[in-house]
Amino acid sequence: TISIESKYQGCQFSCEKDDMSNVTVCVRFRPLNSREKRDHGDNICIQGLDAESFVFKDEKDGDFMFSFDRVFYQNSAQEDMFDHLAMPIVRDAMNAINGTIITYGQTGAGKTYSMEGPSISECNGQKKGIVPRVVDALFGCMRCAHEGSKYTLKLSMVEIYMERVRDLFDLARDNLQIKESKAQGIFLSGATEICIVDSTQALQAIAGGIANRAVGETQMNMASSRSHCVYLFSVQQESTNDGRVKIGKLLLVDLAGSEKVDKTGAEGRVLEEAKTINKSLSALGNVICALTNGKVNHIPYRDSKLTRILQDALGGNSRTALLCCCSPSSSNASESLSTLRFGARAKHIKASSRVQSNEDKGDVKQVTEYRTNSELRDRLV
Ligand code: ADP
Ligand code: MG
Repeated sequence: TISIESKYQGCQFSCEKDDMSNVTVCVRFRPLNSREKRDHGDNICIQGLDAESFVFKDEKDGDFMFSFDRVFYQNSAQEDMFDHLAMPIVRDAMNAINGTIITYGQTGAGKTYSMEGPSISECNGQKKGIVPRVVDALFGCMRCAHEGSKYTLKLSMVEIYMERVRDLFDLARDNLQIKESKAQGIFLSGATEICIVDSTQALQAIAGGIANRAVGETQMNMASSRSHCVYLFSVQQESTNDGRVKIGKLLLVDLAGSEKVDKTGAEGRVLEEAKTINKSLSALGNVICALTNGKVNHIPYRDSKLTRILQDALGGNSRTALLCCCSPSSSNASESLSTLRFGARAKHIKASSRVQSNEDKGDVKQVTEYRTNSELRDRLV
């Protein structure tokens, strides 16, 4: 294994973009859980082809092949996922390039596991998720940075619940406004910013923020899957030569569950929550749709708090990674398919012109029969 230091070396210089899209889309399948195994046996709806493609088997709609920037299968390691999806974005943030990492998927699909790990306080294990690894990586990069720069790290944590932005470091601030300025772009006005000085202190602060979410959880009916959680790291880089300051913002977003809530059973607050989540996630879908259709003048960012916060991330002023989390179980096939289609759509957001050509119909193509990987690939070109 490579040492921490060698892993972060070169973080000053790396900001290559691999293709025209500014959104990296990866998919992660979690292992089957015991309930799925008990009720549906080992039936899974995917057949992996390689690290980028798989065949999705839908009992109703037939077989589809999907290709993404990376696919993490059931036994993938947190480290592998982090290295592919997040590390390039962290490096860019050190170079004052804004970055965003979003987890999307139905409740129970592995969004929070990927973002935090099994528990945020388990911060030394191999199972730690993106957030603690980002913290380590930022401090690792800072240690390796050349002498001409002095770094300051700040962190805010908010939750979007029922279209209100709540400060998770100060629950009295429960309706933060999202504003925009030339210098800062989109920002959360009045959000608490904690200066973070080392990993331990950062993780303590984050655990506190998560606990403030969990307080809501008992009171508000599983608020953690009914709200979006946003971590905002701000990496300030001051040149020791001329005092010039550059800021890279790193936004980590653990979205509310994307499942369709059965409205017939839901009533009262539960129904209101479901409607609000559906509204903000469909607003996100609509923004992505508008961007991929090249309707650059009518991007409906203001339709929800979520899309407003993500405006810079989606609109081009940020390098963005989307992790689509899915259950591999056939019993969740329709939710997984809808998550994968969302991801395939997002892949077509272009950094430069955001115009999609007519030939470019998306990553989803139906395949009726196949024998070999190469045959499958041939069908797709
Ligand atoms: P979500 O945040 O999408 O609602 P969670 O991340 O809370 O879902 O995951 C649901 C359950 O599945 C948790 O118990 C979690 O520990 C487990 N889990 C999710 N992803 C993985 C994974 N890749 N490996 C092992 N367990 C996982
Ligand atoms: Mg969750």
